[in-house]
Amino acid sequence: MRLAAVRKATAERLLDVYHRLYAAYGRQHWWPADSPFEVVVGAILTQSAAWTNVEKAIANLRTAGVLSPEGLLKVSLDELARLVHPAGYYNAKARKLRAFVEMLFGRHGGRLEALFALPLPALRQELIATHGIGQETADSIILYAAGKPTFVIDAYTRRVFSRLGLEPAADSYASWQAMFSDALPPDVQLFNEYHALIDHHAKTVCRKAPLCDGCCLREVCQLAMGGALR
Ligand code: SF4
Repeated sequence: MRLAAVRKATAERLLDVYHRLYAAYGRQHWWPADSPFEVVVGAILTQSAAWTNVEKAIANLRTAGVLSPEGLLKVSLDELARLVHPAGYYNAKARKLRAFVEMLFGRHGGRLEALFALPLPALRQELIATHGIGQETADSIILYAAGKPTFVIDAYTRRVFSRLGLEPAADSYASWQAMFSDALPPDVQLFNEYHALIDHHAKTVCRKAPLCDGCCLREVCQLAMGGALR
């Protein structure tokens, strides 16, 4: 009974934060890509990289005619590393892209639709078992490319919500994800928009040195009410 009450209170606070962010910033139109495969490529390339540099790398792949599962399978690793150079860690990222398409052809006939037809837990397991895909990248692919309801956790999420005073007992990816997943309805559009709004807020207002004056979450923020900066 007590657990249900805590979950209900958390759900109300999470939805309240969502509505405040949405009212302040509006729709974010994520993920900015032309196709689900481009989302996958972007999710791998954006690891430790600014999105503007990822866009340059994706433009290189498109111009070279290899922005497809077949293209990334056939191009040499050296050439692939050269093309994704703007995204940084280019040798490692070339290997990660190659590992993804090798998994796709080795286990799903090279068809993204076949991979995405897996039930969510099996899809997540398949992605995480692939070289270079961690939990955050897997969840980004599942939510933004496959269109299935998994909540993406990143450093921005942890920063904003720990400052708000809304955090799980354990600081693990699974605990953070469960805080959102257990409280919110499994709604793809809600999860899509919420994650995008959190990232926008963390990049523009709740930065390392937060700009609390005029913040849309000020009224519900523990830090703004005198908590310690984290
Ligand atoms: S009030 Fe400050 S710490 Fe709280 S969410 Fe806004 S910017 Fe972040």
